[in-house]
Amino acid sequence: MSAVILDGKAIAASIRQEIKQEIESKGIKCGLAVVLVGEDEASKVYVKNKIKACSDVGIKSYAYYLQKTAEEDELLQLIDALNNDSNIHGILVQLPLPSHINEKKIISAINPQKDVDGFCAENMGKLFLGETDVLAPCTPSGIIEILKRSNIEISGKHAVIVGRSNIVGKPAAFMMLRENATVTIAHSKTKDLKSITSLADILIVAVGKQELIDASMVKKGAVVIDVGIHRTEQGLKGDVKFGEVSKIASAITPVPGGVGPMTIAMLLQNTLKAAKALMEKQ
Ligand code: NDP
Repeated sequence: MSAVILDGKAIAASIRQEIKQEIESKGIKCGLAVVLVGEDEASKVYVKNKIKACSDVGIKSYAYYLQKTAEEDELLQLIDALNNDSNIHGILVQLPLPSHINEKKIISAINPQKDVDGFCAENMGKLFLGETDVLAPCTPSGIIEILKRSNIEISGKHAVIVGRSNIVGKPAAFMMLRENATVTIAHSKTKDLKSITSLADILIVAVGKQELIDASMVKKGAVVIDVGIHRTEQGLKGDVKFGEVSKIASAITPVPGGVGPMTIAMLLQNTLKAAKALMEKQ
């Protein structure tokens, strides 16, 4: 048996195309502010990719680069100005922030209706309540889209999520629950991880440990979603041993080209959603 490769790159491309068409056909004005504090190389690349993705679909991006020594107050003042700027529909503060800035305080300063990363307490709370009209975190939203657009049934399935971070694991668990999966969350304190992962119909892995999941931990025919990204000399690797797991899974996301491209597509989708909601209010 050889798994179907879930092509996140192709799915993301069609979502971007849909967004572009909607923006063009309805003449929607859509603006995303991207804020980067400091010189982190990986963050610079992420910001550059997000800005390019915006311009490809017709979203106007506004980039703000602050020195790594910028005070927390300076960033809070910028967010306040962006919250009150009617040209800006989405605000994204690239994480991680320098250690002298309180990330939680910054995220909670963003107007929840412009919180296109979906990280603030209000949006997380709505997700917890099972609401669908919410700006949800992009990576887990991307996972749900991959499953749905690949016609993989979620309802009634046992989903095991390995990882409980606020940006991936936890929101992914609530989204799978909202889709009527039976959900188990595993983490670093979980005992006998293999006995749990091998029960999964859908296994979502977001641990940040290169190739932690091998074939012995996966049920035959399971769907495997690999969120991990690890830069190695042999290129990007995931949290799953792709070669051996793809021989027993029924479907699997590759790294690269799986969940990664979906995250940016979902950011664009959230920005469009925020713009439409804010326009309706005006
Ligand atoms: P975090 O480090 O915030 O969380 C990792 C989670 O995995 C924690 O809940 C941790 O448990 C758990 N964990 C760590 N080691 C083990 C283990 N041996 N067994 C079981 N659970 C374990 O990571 P993120 O969620 O932010 O990211 C995870 C991975 O996904 C990373 O590789 C990251 O680069 C990638 N990523 C990819 C994205 C994409 O767009 N494709 C977007 C975001 C992240 P505990 O809570 O107990 O510490």
